[in-house]
Amino acid sequence: MSTRIPRDTPMLDQLESGPWPSFVAGLKRLAKDNDMMVDLLGQLETSYETRKGYWKGGTVGVFGYGGGIIPRFTELKDENGKPLFPEAAEFHTLRVQPPAGMHYTSDLLRKLCDVWVDNGGSGLIAFHGQSGDIMFQGVSSENVQAVFNGLNEIGFDLGGAGPALRTSMSCVGSARCEMSCFDEARALRTVINNNLDDMHRPSLPYKFKFKFSGCPNDCVNAIQRSDMATIGTWRDNIRVDEKLVQDYYRVHGMHDLYNDVVGRCPTKAVTVVVSDQVAANPHLSVAQLGDGNALCIDNKNCVRCMHCLNVIPGGLLPGKDRGVSILVGGKGVLKIGATMGSVIIPFMKLETDEDFAKLNELARNILDFFAENALDHERTGEMIERIGLANFLEGMNIPVDPNMISQPRSNPYFRSDDWDEQAAKWVEHKQQKAA
Ligand code: SF4
Repeated sequence: MSTRIPRDTPMLDQLESGPWPSFVAGLKRLAKDNDMMVDLLGQLETSYETRKGYWKGGTVGVFGYGGGIIPRFTELKDENGKPLFPEAAEFHTLRVQPPAGMHYTSDLLRKLCDVWVDNGGSGLIAFHGQSGDIMFQGVSSENVQAVFNGLNEIGFDLGGAGPALRTSMSCVGSARCEMSCFDEARALRTVINNNLDDMHRPSLPYKFKFKFSGCPNDCVNAIQRSDMATIGTWRDNIRVDEKLVQDYYRVHGMHDLYNDVVGRCPTKAVTVVVSDQVAANPHLSVAQLGDGNALCIDNKNCVRCMHCLNVIPGGLLPGKDRGVSILVGGKGVLKIGATMGSVIIPFMKLETDEDFAKLNELARNILDFFAENALDHERTGEMIERIGLANFLEGMNIPVDPNMISQPRSNPYFRSDDWDEQAAKWVEHKQQKAA
């Protein structure tokens, strides 16, 4: 039973009245036997009343780590400087790295909850915060170390905060998704485990994020939300399970096939043709529909947007020659505006130990280049914008490739400026450098 007398919370109560589950209901449930949550509700209600936040930062950490804890101290004090809500006066957050792909057993989830509550935590956990971490929210300074030790004993580690390598994310991956084109969990663990020092001891110009998506659906938003995105893709033909395509066709018919699949292919690579007119073409994926028509995909024109594969799940699948594309410089909002990652490696295989070592080396090189060349508070995308992609590639020792696009071409491939002269100068410059 909680011992604190709760204050009235009319404004928070309103948030429970909508049709959706409310976080307020959860906080109240915890507050029944938790003084910290009673006072948290009090502080929150005051914030809603006055339209002001009352948390300030500070310095809280655990031994050997420079980051991973987000300190929160209350600013709501009485005239004697005493906190108005003393049980929630210190409400720090531990950022904890989730398992790759966010796979948990229920036993592990119970253990996480036990460690949290048994060591003085508030009971409030967010699976997962924007950063990808498990957020253990609400612990006092004196209990932070005990919670961390408990989490460490069951195999968890703190994530990143501040100007450091941040907690990484990978999609659910091949364990549960037929679109997966590489071992996302292994890629994440290889890259993160080899760069942990940069996560636990912040020393970069600004934050840096790696993300791993198993296919171009990009379920972890790697292209928009990471400095280095590793996204699965394939370079042969889309695979066809004719029976499942026919099942789709039987249920949905020609109308849906045309409107939802053929008509929505951005490059018009999907067509329906009369079966005996299907051309003999090694780049064609063909599914007979069983009524004298066939669904054809011209793989040379497919840009891997994933739409047709998503609409006919299992019927159309990524090819067998799979690998990854690597992009750098994505970020939701930058000083230069929202930026998608630019392709720097159009395709590389990611299967053998050597492939993973190569990925790890590339990740380390990019991180080192960022550490040495970015300005304070500048993300990778901004740095590349400032120094130029060509210089970044030269620093990375990656040859320029026409597939390194920042966005698909939308204009005719005709240039009337002095592009060819500039290109000739660039080649000359490279030759002089090599000589
Ligand atoms: Fe067209 Fe390829 Fe997208 Fe399918 S995955 S809709 S073929 S571009």
